Amino acid sequence: MIVVMRPSATQEEVDEVRRAVEEHGLEAFLSVGEERTVIGVVGSDLERVAHLGTLSGVEQVIRISSPYKLASVEHHVERTRVRANGVEIGFGQELVVIAGPCAVESREQLMETARCVKREGARVLRGGAFKPRTSPYSFQGMGLPALKLLAEAHEATGLPVISEVVDPADVPAFEEHVDILQVGARNMHNFVLLRAVGQSRRPVLLKRGLSATIEEWLLAAEYILSTGNPNVILCERGIRTFETATRNTLDLSAVPVLRSRTHLPIIVDPSHGTGHRALVAPMALASAAVGADGLIIEVHPDPPNALSDGDQSLSFEEFGALMDELRRLQFVRAVDTAPVQPAAPPPFAAEGIEDVRDRIDDLDTRLAEMVQERASLALEVQRRRTPNAHGHDVLRERTLLERAASGTTGPMTPAELTMVFDALLRASRAVQRRHAQAVTEADAAATGSGG
Ligand code: PEP
Ligand code: MN
Repeated sequence: MIVVMRPSATQEEVDEVRRAVEEHGLEAFLSVGEERTVIGVVGSDLERVAHLGTLSGVEQVIRISSPYKLASVEHHVERTRVRANGVEIGFGQELVVIAGPCAVESREQLMETARCVKREGARVLRGGAFKPRTSPYSFQGMGLPALKLLAEAHEATGLPVISEVVDPADVPAFEEHVDILQVGARNMHNFVLLRAVGQSRRPVLLKRGLSATIEEWLLAAEYILSTGNPNVILCERGIRTFETATRNTLDLSAVPVLRSRTHLPIIVDPSHGTGHRALVAPMALASAAVGADGLIIEVHPDPPNALSDGDQSLSFEEFGALMDELRRLQFVRAVDTAPVQPAAPPPFAAEGIEDVRDRIDDLDTRLAEMVQERASLALEVQRRRTPNAHGHDVLRERTLLERAASGTTGPMTPAELTMVFDALLRASRAVQRRHAQAVTEADAAATGSGG
C-alpha cells in the first residue's frame, strides 16, 4: 500500500500517518520528495489501516497488492501449469477436455463412457462418487465403490480421474483412488474442506461458489494454497442470477478477469453452467474462445435415464461432435506432443557472448525479412481469391502447425513452437483481412459513384 501525502502536508501530518501504521504492527517507509512525501506501508494485514485515506494531509491511498497473495499474479508472474498423472493443464498447453458422467452409476456405465471420451480425445475422466444433491431424496452417489471403479477406469484407459470430495475425512480415500480432487460449488466456502485438500498432495479443482464473487473465489483458492498445496485449478461453473432460462448464468467474463489476476489455470464447466444439453457445445466453444485452459463436460451413455443431471449430459454422439468442432477450430490438436529430440549443441563454444549476440541479431534480421516475404505470399493468395472473401483454410493451417510442432529439432518444445506459428498465422490473417476490406471499400465506393 502506498500513501501519497498532499504537497501541503505538514511534518505532523506525516508523523501521524506513520504512527497509525506502526500502531497496527505494520511498517512505514518514507520517501521524501521535493514536492511531496510518499509512504510505503508493508505488512501482512493491510485491512487494519484501511482508514489511512481519511487522515488529514493524505491525498490518496493506493492498494498495490491483492488480498490473495499466493493466488495473485503480483506474487507469481509465471502462469502455473498443474500436472495430474501425466496430463498438464494451464499455460502453454492445449485445451484439456475433462469428460464423463455426472455420477458413477455402475461399472458398465463408467467403463463405456470412459472408453468413449478417451476415443474422442478427452484427457481426463470425471465421475461423481459422493453427490452433493440439493434434495436429500435425490441419488447421493455410490460412495466409496465408485472411487474404486474410477481407479479401475484409470487402469483400463490410462486417463487420470477426477471426483468431488465432500467430507474432509474422505481425503485419504480420494488420494488413494483419484488423481484430482474436486471441491464443488456448494463447498467453495467450506473452509475445513479447503484446508483438508490443501494438505493433500493431489491437485485440486476448485469450483466457483453459486454466488461467489471472483475475489471470494480467489480467497477460497488462497486457503488451499496457503495450507501447502500449490496445484489449484479454478473452474467457472455458472452463478445464480435472476435468469431462469438456464440453470445458472455462465460467467465467461470470469475467464479473462481471472487471467489478469491469477496465475492459476482456469477451466469452464458448460454443463452445470447452462443445465441444458443443447447449450453445452456452444458455450464450450465460447469458453475455448475466451482462453479457458480446459473444459469439464458431463457425458452419459443414455442421458434421458441418467440418475443425475441427465438434462445437461451429452450423448456419446454429441460429445464426439463437440470434440470434432474443437479440433476443427484448433482448440484441440490431433498431434502427438511428445517433446522433440534436442539437437546436437551448436559449435559456438569458443565464441564470446558478444559474438553469439551478433549471430542472434543477424538471425532476427533474416527472420523479419522472411516473415515479410511470407506475408507477401499470403497476400498473393488473398488476391487470387474472390475479392472480398478473406479467410483462411483451417485445415491447411492445422497441418502447418502440426508440421511446425513435430518436424524440427531444437530446444523449443512443440507447444512453444506452436505459439510462434500461431502468432505468425494470426498476423498473416490480419494482412489478408486488411486487403479484403480495402477491396470491399473500393468496390463500394465504385458502386456508389457509379450509381
Ligand atoms: C459436479 O461437477 O458434479 C457438480 C456437482 O458441480 P457443481 O459443484 O459445480 O454444482
Ligand atoms: Mn452434475
